[in-house]
Amino acid sequence: MEKVRYQHCPKCNSTNLKNIFYIKAGERPQVYVCCSECGTFVAKYILAQYISDQCYESLLEMMRGPFDSGRNVAKRIKTLCFNAREGFNQVMNLLEKQGEEQKYLEDILMESDSLESD
Ligand SMILES: [Zn+2]
Repeated sequence: MEKVRYQHCPKCNSTNLKNIFYIKAGERPQVYVCCSECGTFVAKYILAQYISDQCYESLLEMMRGPFDSGRNVAKRIKTLCFNAREGFNQVMNLLEKQGEEQKYLEDILMESDSLESD
């Protein structure tokens, strides 16, 4: 199963959303999603990995452990960044090809069985 869906505001259906990062020592970073149009709480994510457009420089510092050679770290980060961009391109292609899935994200996630439950 492969589906693509924008995140929508549950109140006004806008896709104009803000990501607010909450970072606290010793805990996984949390991302709160808020509607830019009406301010409604949309969703919360707990980050397992973060790769941005500027990923190379920031990850280089984070991933350099005491036993890693600089060359190994650089190679791992290059792969990670490349995979993130490839993934983004694939998702955008899928979106163009099959359009946005209209079901609620909750339903899609349930069907895909890809969410951990506590
Ligand atoms: Zn809204």
